[in-house]
Amino acid sequence: MIHDCNECGYCKEACPMYRAILKETESPRGFIKLENKEQKTTKFFNCANCKACKEVCPSNVDFDIEKIRQRVIYEIETESSRRVLENVKRYGNPYGVAETEEETNKQSTDSTKDL
Ligand code: SF4
Ligand code: SF4
Repeated sequence: MIHDCNECGYCKEACPMYRAILKETESPRGFIKLENKEQKTTKFFNCANCKACKEVCPSNVDFDIEKIRQRVIYEIETESSRRVLENVKRYGNPYGVAETEEETNKQSTDSTKDL
């Protein structure tokens, strides 16, 4: 189980992806942390699914990378679909392109709101 990880880090040295990239977020231990936070990241697609991490893990952690990838794809697709529907509702097109000057001004105001 993913929750059995004790964060020892043995898996990192066995992982070809980590050895190539040298980033914690792209290591088996990093994946477990990202998955526990349900992060929506394409980093999961860098895994070669070689299972070398499972071989050396003292806690027998075996994460299902395909299942994690399906979750990420589903969440990205859901967000994209929601954005397209919002754009159609608001601007009458899927691209979110404002058709009147008033809409363009509102779009500029909205985009600077978080700055
Ligand atoms: S070797 Fe196993 S227990 Fe240790 S950090 Fe990696 S997944 Fe967690
Ligand atoms: S299965 Fe993925 S995370 Fe595990 S060692 Fe192989 S490349 Fe690394």
